[in-house]
Amino acid sequence: MMWGTIATWPFSLQAVEKAAAVLQKNGTAMDAAEQGIHLVETDLSIESVGRGGWLNADGKLELDAAMMNGDTLEIGAVAGVQHYEHPVSIARAVMEHTRHNMIIGKGAESFACSMGIKAADDTYMIPENIRKIWQQNKENPIGHDTIGIISVDQNGTVVSATSTSGANGKIPGRVGDSPLVGSGFYADSQIGGAAATGLGEDIMRTCCSFRCVQLMASGMTPQQAVETVVRTAHEAILAHGRKPDCIALVCMNKHGQFGAAANHTGFSYAVCTENHPAQIIGVSPLAGCCIDCFVPEINQTVKGEDGI
Ligand code: ASP
Repeated sequence: MMWGTIATWPFSLQAVEKAAAVLQKNGTAMDAAEQGIHLVETDLSIESVGRGGWLNADGKLELDAAMMNGDTLEIGAVAGVQHYEHPVSIARAVMEHTRHNMIIGKGAESFACSMGIKAADDTYMIPENIRKIWQQNKENPIGHDTIGIISVDQNGTVVSATSTSGANGKIPGRVGDSPLVGSGFYADSQIGGAAATGLGEDIMRTCCSFRCVQLMASGMTPQQAVETVVRTAHEAILAHGRKPDCIALVCMNKHGQFGAAANHTGFSYAVCTENHPAQIIGVSPLAGCCIDCFVPEINQTVKGEDGI
C-alpha cells in the first residue's frame, strides 16, 4: 500500500518529515503521527502547539489533542491539559488503554500520570518570553493554530491526530474543535482522513472533518471533498447570519492522494508521500469565500500542486 502523510501549516514540515521516515520503514500510522506531533509540541518557536503555546486569559497553558485509528474507529482525546509536554501521547493512551474517548483537565492529568507519562512544570512549559508576550497582548489576544496530521501506513491504516493550545487568551476551560471527533479530525481506513485548523467555534458548527471523509467516500477526490467542505461551511455560517472566521482543512485518502482548502489567505500545509517529496504547499483561498485572518509567518511556501 502507498504510504503518505499531510499536516496543517508550514511549521508541520518537521512533523511530516518525521512521520514519513517512520512510514517509509513500515512503521505504524499511529507512531508516525505521534512522533511527528512530538516535534511540534516541543518546538518553542511554534506559538500555538504544546510547550510555549498560547496562554489562556489567566496566563495558564491548557492543551487539547486527539488521535483516531481509522481501522477500528477508536478515538482518544484530551482537553484543557496542563503540565504535559505531549498531550497527543495522553490522547493516544486514552484511545489504547481506556474504554473512553475523551478525558479532560485534571482527570486527563491524573490519567497521564497513572500511565507513566512524564509531567513538566510551568518553568519548562511556559518560558519567560512567552509570559511577557502574554502580558503585553492580554487585552487584545489574537491567534490560534493546530497541527492536524493524517498518516497512512503501508498496511493501509489511516490515522488522524491533532494538538493545539487553542485560541490565544481563551476563557479558561474553553475547548475548540481540535479534540472533537468529526470537527477537528476524523479517520476511516476504508476511506481516508481529514483534519482542520482555524477558529474552532466555526469548525464545530459545521463538523468539517467528518463531512470531508464522507464526501471522499461518496466518490469525490480529496481536493473536491475538501473544497466542498470549506465552501459549504463558509456559506452555511453566512446563511445563518454569522460572519465566518478562518476555516482550513487538509485530507488524504487511503491511496495517499491528498487535498487542502481554506477560506482565507496565508494557509499552507506540509505533505510527503511515497511518490511526493516532503514539501510545503501554499493554498489559494477559495474563490468567493475569502476572509482576512491572522496567520503565522510563513517561511517556505511553494505554490501550486495538489495530490490528485
Ligand atoms: N482550531 C483550533 C481551536 O480553535 C485552533 C486553530 O487550529 O487555529 O482551538
